[in-house]
Amino acid sequence: MSQKETQLEIIHHFDSGICPSYEVQGDTLIFQSHPFNVCLRNVPDGLTVRVAPREGGRDLHMQGLMVSRNGLDYKTIPFQEEYAFSTRMTKDKRLSIQFHQGGDIWLATAYPYSRNALEQLMCDTHGAPGVRTYLLRREHRVVPVFEFGEDDGNKMIHFVVAGECAWETAGQWAGDAMIRELCSDQTLSDRLTKNAVVVIVPHTSPFSATMPSGGYTALEGKSIYGAATWGQETPPPEYALIREKVEEAIQSRRLGLLLTLHSYKAQRPTSSMEAIQSAGENELTGARSEWTKQILEKLIKDVPKASMAFPKKCWHEGLAREYLMRKYNIVTFRIEVTTYQSSMEFFQQTGQQLIRNIGQITDWSPVFP
Ligand SMILES: [Zn+2]
Repeated sequence: MSQKETQLEIIHHFDSGICPSYEVQGDTLIFQSHPFNVCLRNVPDGLTVRVAPREGGRDLHMQGLMVSRNGLDYKTIPFQEEYAFSTRMTKDKRLSIQFHQGGDIWLATAYPYSRNALEQLMCDTHGAPGVRTYLLRREHRVVPVFEFGEDDGNKMIHFVVAGECAWETAGQWAGDAMIRELCSDQTLSDRLTKNAVVVIVPHTSPFSATMPSGGYTALEGKSIYGAATWGQETPPPEYALIREKVEEAIQSRRLGLLLTLHSYKAQRPTSSMEAIQSAGENELTGARSEWTKQILEKLIKDVPKASMAFPKKCWHEGLAREYLMRKYNIVTFRIEVTTYQSSMEFFQQTGQQLIRNIGQITDWSPVFP
């Protein structure tokens, strides 16, 4: 590198100041792992950024990197497409992008959804008719909640939970869009809240979003698969708080929809909406099984790139839908919002269409056996 180029600095974007591991080889910057969200200062002309992807890069390959010039507005730059800079797949199949503009560049493997985004949402929707915001709080962790509809003690309660995996940010952006849609479309909000209270959690663990771990940062600082702790006796604080609210709604037979929003990044080209057919001793049969299939179809109607799945079993024990079916024989749903050749607009359209679709469904009673 030339004199000037040696001034390249890599700064972790988040408060922790921790950077993912990387090395500099000539004019190439190699990240050894992902996810990451960094700021590159004083980028030399011609710098190539390479990512050593997990699992052959399936999750990033058809997505690209999120690139910003100001740390605020991100664009997706595919690894194999000409954009403002040339891009290429290197021989050893690492994913790379070459930058031909200097200055500062923010780079992320998922369109960042952090505390900033939450605070922006909180301020933008403050005072909108019908929305209440509050925090669930345990130990030093908080879960911000957006709630719609007067609770008369009898209405159904719908739950939409995003950010169980902190870096699956496409889900957070979809949840964020659902809240904005309910704040701005009075007809939709009235229709939904006539018979239901709608509880939306746009980010289960804002704390974890500021840490380098991919999913959830446990109290002792370890990265764990937090979404799969629903089945544990004592889940980490955030999951425990949400689970308590959901279980209260089950015990009073008021649960309507429970939908979790995840994102398997670009591993698959579609956003898969899923319910499971069985867990433990419990199995959906007959009319309830038919109803579930119909709801899957209704939930994904006109949602861009959406598909549905209705597998016999859940792929992982302890996830919300597995735990709730096993313990209570309850039907719940999950969508993995894809980042395959996707953009911010796509995440927003996904959330907007999902909440409109939820507003079209009136009978949720087969959720219970
Ligand atoms: Zn997930």
